[in-house]
Amino acid sequence: MKHVIIGGGAAGIKAAEQIRSLEKDSKITIIMEDMNIHSRCMLHKYLSGERNTEEMSFLPKEMEDELNIEFFRGYTISSVDTDRKLVKIFPLKDQADDVKAKEEMEDVSYDKLLIATGSNGFIPPAPGLREAKNVHCFRHLREAEIIREKAKDSENIAIIGAGLVGIDAAYGMLERGKKVTVIDMAVSIIPMQLCKKAGDMYQKLFEDDGCKFELGRKVSDTKMDSDGNITAIILDNGTEVKCDLVIAAAGERAAIRFLEGSSIKINRFIEVDDHMRTNVKDIFAAGNATGLSGTWPNAKKQAEVAAYNMCGFDKTYDDTYAMKNTMNFYGLATLSLGSGKEEEGDRIIEQQDSFGYRKAIIRNGVLDSVVLQGKNLNYAGVYQHIIKNKINIEDIIKDDENKVFKLSFADFYDTDDRGQYVYA
Ligand SMILES: Cc1cc2nc3c(=O)[nH]c(=O)nc-3n(C[C@H](O)[C@H](O)[C@H](O)COP(=O)(O)OP(=O)(O)OC[C@H]3O[C@@H](n4cnc5c(N)ncnc54)[C@H](O)[C@@H]3O)c2cc1C
Repeated sequence: MKHVIIGGGAAGIKAAEQIRSLEKDSKITIIMEDMNIHSRCMLHKYLSGERNTEEMSFLPKEMEDELNIEFFRGYTISSVDTDRKLVKIFPLKDQADDVKAKEEMEDVSYDKLLIATGSNGFIPPAPGLREAKNVHCFRHLREAEIIREKAKDSENIAIIGAGLVGIDAAYGMLERGKKVTVIDMAVSIIPMQLCKKAGDMYQKLFEDDGCKFELGRKVSDTKMDSDGNITAIILDNGTEVKCDLVIAAAGERAAIRFLEGSSIKINRFIEVDDHMRTNVKDIFAAGNATGLSGTWPNAKKQAEVAAYNMCGFDKTYDDTYAMKNTMNFYGLATLSLGSGKEEEGDRIIEQQDSFGYRKAIIRNGVLDSVVLQGKNLNYAGVYQHIIKNKINIEDIIKDDENKVFKLSFADFYDTDDRGQYVYA
């Protein structure tokens, strides 16, 4: 059997590991634009200089050798011929290794194909941003390399986007001693994962480190020099943010342009069923390219399911819970679980003490979301269980609502009619 995987990120590598554990002798080929396997979650440590390229890998060399994979690194896809079961690939300019780069275009045939190409950054359509030479996205190591190099000669860094990716970039640049301004339309930072209070805690820590924030603001214009570099970003209130380098962290798009015109069904993302199968026989997809989630653990779970099915097993992707995020900046750790979105009639419970800040959103007796920030993150696994399974906690917290922050698995034990312990 010949398995071909497009993408060597969280999903692609997990799928290869899983396939190899199921089929010792099958051929596995990975085609990836990246030259190096790397963790995107650690890109900020590369920017800051705390990690080098080798330390960014999440697949140790010995394991890579054991997996016995044929790699095409620095290659991109021009198209997938679903009738002839061929992937047409070509080397990215200046990237592919010398030997392979000599061949201009190659056809790679497959029996089973996994598309795990993740996503690319997105530059907002504000005047000048897309044409400028000094505007870079921050999703791939090769982009981080360019940013790190250009930052050497830059003093002022503007970051568009105060989500996790933008804040990661801000951290990396501040560690390098740069003057950083983060711009976002949202009024608080990391708004997708954190409520305003929890976001404000981080904002304060970043401000203490010299970071400036322009929140609730849109980029309305830019100033460009004669070399095509942006020298200032103009906000909708007229504020001018001086910059030598701009990092665009204002969104992502599935990296699936090469599928345009193919028979694989896409709707902004690759459409898959609960076996991670696309509409075309023997073609599967996993990770950010499917739009099912934007997190590392979920990309891996989807890849595992795809791999089983590529090897002829029958496995369903049912652990779809995607609303979990952890982060740690300046030693302040946060776990956020659930949608975090408040609705009318919700019961909101908040607590702040020397251990940190906590918030729970309860809807009709069921815990919808929780934010735990500070030193009290131990035993947080119980919250994922409660939220994911929509367990009613009304009885447990009726006498003391703060008990919502002291829940343990023991609260959900019960005994069945034979006296056995069971979970509620
Ligand atoms: C800065 C940053 C910080 C993050 N922090 C976290 C975090 O703390 N926690 C968390 O859970 N998630 C985090 N994420 C998100 C997480 O990294 C992604 O959810 C995860 O990497 C998705 O895995 P994937 O395999 O789908 O795609 P990726 O890991 O992005 O891998 C995509 C692969 O496809 C290849 N590829 C793309 N297009 C092509 C093509 N046309 N031809 C050939 N190869 C191609 C790429 O080279 C790459 O090898 C972060 C992301 C970023 C950018």
